[in-house]
Amino acid sequence: MLGATHAAAAAAGYLLWQSSPTGAFVAAVAATLPDLDRFIPSLHRGPTHSAAALLTLYLFGALYFPAILLPALFGYASHIFLDMLTPMGVSLFWPFSRKIRFPIAKTGGVIDAAIRLAALCAIGIVFFW
Ligand SMILES: [Zn+2]
Repeated sequence: MLGATHAAAAAAGYLLWQSSPTGAFVAAVAATLPDLDRFIPSLHRGPTHSAAALLTLYLFGALYFPAILLPALFGYASHIFLDMLTPMGVSLFWPFSRKIRFPIAKTGGVIDAAIRLAALCAIGIVFFW
């Protein structure tokens, strides 16, 4: 999925779940973090897209930023889930290399755009309705 889709979906999901604009913002930012691995192409969708990364975020967050831990975990987990829906999948059980995937959406494809549009509509409805 594209970064904008990850951010919009995380923000919309958190807004609908917790009705917290601040939490939605944190979730959106956290949803962009796993793709920082794009700077090291051989690691893309590896360690940063795994349950180990999510556990590390939980432990680090519980110690250093407990007030925003829930939306951060939500955003990060939503990224991993959405990338599972693409043909490339994710290494959820890294360091094991098996990719977990339920390939129903191509990155930048129609479903990616539909998820992004639906998320943006949900955000708009929550804020402006
Ligand atoms: Zn990703």
